[in-house]
Amino acid sequence: MRVLIVEDEQRLAATLQDLLVLNNYTADVCHDGESGLDNALTGIYDVVILDVMLPKLDGLTLLRRLRAHGSTIPVLMLTARSDLSDRVEGLDCGADYYLTKPFEPKELLACIRALSRRSPEMNRTNELTFGDLTLSKDTFSLICGSRSVHLSRKEFDLCELLIRNHAQVITKETILLKIWGYESDAEDNNAEVYISFLRRKLTHLKSRVRIRTMRMIGYRLEEGEET
Ligand code: CA
Repeated sequence: MRVLIVEDEQRLAATLQDLLVLNNYTADVCHDGESGLDNALTGIYDVVILDVMLPKLDGLTLLRRLRAHGSTIPVLMLTARSDLSDRVEGLDCGADYYLTKPFEPKELLACIRALSRRSPEMNRTNELTFGDLTLSKDTFSLICGSRSVHLSRKEFDLCELLIRNHAQVITKETILLKIWGYESDAEDNNAEVYISFLRRKLTHLKSRVRIRTMRMIGYRLEEGEET
């Protein structure tokens, strides 16, 4: 679980990071809204903790832009303001939960647990769909109509990453971070190899879904024309 903290109060940001790390989360910090949005859009985070009052780009605008990019990442908004209209505005912008400062560490951790359960829509049905494809966690397989193929763990993770973020381009760096992790010495080549494995399986399934290469940027899923 990788959490992004967007909070300009350095001491609070550090406290949050320590709290999360102590509880076995990976946590990164951004101190302004612009870098917060850039990082939130990488697709490598599972939850965002977002302050409202931020330099460069305020939290509500950040959240609106994040949702406009098609990101469904769960967002927990933090604010010193307890005014009802602010909470409503935050929720309207696409926040999943609201915490008013000061808050209890226990309450924050409970929120993160709840949001991380929500983050994989898969947890309830164990299935994710895109176009004519269904990704099944029960069987680690990809299904299209009456055909199905088994996926290796890494193919499954890659497919899940692409489906969850289908509205955006996934860079090779994101793929390496998400699938192989920071500590690994995997290279760009690994991402290319696994993309080619998945493409072969899509062809075998006769799916209309394609993995499009965005030159110099990365990959995204596209639903092709019906043939
Ligand atoms: Ca602030």
